[in-house]
Amino acid sequence: MSKSQPNPQIEEVKNIFSAYLEQKELRKTNERFTILEEIYNRTDHFDAESLYEFLTKKKKYNVSRATVYNTLELLVSCDLIKKHQFGKNQAQYEKSYGYKQHDHIICVDCKKVVEFCDPRIQQIKSMMGDLLNFKITHHSLNMYGVCGSCQLKRELDSKESNT
Ligand SMILES: [Zn+2]
Ligand SMILES: [Zn+2]
Repeated sequence: MSKSQPNPQIEEVKNIFSAYLEQKELRKTNERFTILEEIYNRTDHFDAESLYEFLTKKKKYNVSRATVYNTLELLVSCDLIKKHQFGKNQAQYEKSYGYKQHDHIICVDCKKVVEFCDPRIQQIKSMMGDLLNFKITHHSLNMYGVCGSCQLKRELDSKESNT
């Protein structure tokens, strides 16, 4: 098995986080940097509880739930991660530094989150900004629907209930 390559982006985000903690006069604990690193090693959307489970059960780190939740909030405030509210589900997080701008489509059945990127959204932002004299700083766009495999599942379910 090959040892994982050092990710240069992780060094960058660690420096940003370190500067932020210093500025806020917060302690630079190993746990906080470990959590940051684990987040930047993943590419998905996750909630705080599943991150906590992953760190303690799978990675066997000795971190408290409070540290995980508190570190997530710190990372949101220094813009290293984004917090999303998809429907009524628990808040979901994802890394944001150096990551492409994108929006989300969420399956209402299996809660799967799919990312998409459409340059027309940028056009709408500048057009509506000009028209309504707003300096648009950010946006949030979530679409909800039923994914392909859940559509199939719904069809099968309805056939079964008809027989
Ligand atoms: Zn689905
Ligand atoms: Zn995303």
